[in-house]
Amino acid sequence: MTEQTVEMGQADMPARAEAGVNDADIKRRLIRAIATGIIAHADELTVLDAAIGDGDHGHNMKRGFEAVLSDVETLSAAPWPDLLKGAGTRLVMKVGGASGPLYGTFFMAMGKDFPVPASREGMANALRAALAALKARGKSEVGQKTMIDVLAPAIEAFVEGKDLTSVREAATQAAKATIPMRATRGRASFLGDRSIGHMDPGARSSSLIVEIICNELGAI
Ligand code: ADP
Ligand code: MG
Repeated sequence: MTEQTVEMGQADMPARAEAGVNDADIKRRLIRAIATGIIAHADELTVLDAAIGDGDHGHNMKRGFEAVLSDVETLSAAPWPDLLKGAGTRLVMKVGGASGPLYGTFFMAMGKDFPVPASREGMANALRAALAALKARGKSEVGQKTMIDVLAPAIEAFVEGKDLTSVREAATQAAKATIPMRATRGRASFLGDRSIGHMDPGARSSSLIVEIICNELGAI
């Protein structure tokens, strides 16, 4: 696939969906891919959280995405804003820990501003708003060794009009870049300098979500 078609595919996907073309199929496919991907990586997330947190991030995320997966039919039948708000609500209720309200806030805020009909510019605005809501909820910023250190550069790449491969690569590299960072937010911040040398678990779960979305949209 050329960059041009990836670009078009990415921008057209929800537009096609809103027009009713394979609408529920695309949504079902995305929800299943994200949920099964997170569930499959639960042990990895737990190991990361055991190193600089309390070892529950994998379990938390698995519980939340199992709840999303069990409602895949209801969610994929809904318009994009309702799907995102519904997924966010389930994550708040089921993930728990610090990450549940943060991911929940992110998806609910994206749903609130998601454009109908979908447009790339509208999606960029919704993602910016979702990131701002997450930062406000966590009282956090870029550079504190959290999920924000992955979501911010990935969203920036999307806003700048980068193709799916570049957005995915931005997320993967950003998760790796949390390894030498010192945590100043969340449980890992209690460790001070001892948080250095480990990938942040929330940064890893965020990079997984971005990587899976980019892979799926590239394949549609
Ligand atoms: P808990 O820390 O309560 O056990 P989790 O283990 O599920 O919750 O999630 C930990 C992750 O949440 C961290 O790795 C970090 O990425 C993210 N996180 C924690 N606090 C904040 C915050 N204030 N802002 C942004 N992200 C945060
Ligand atoms: Mg934890």
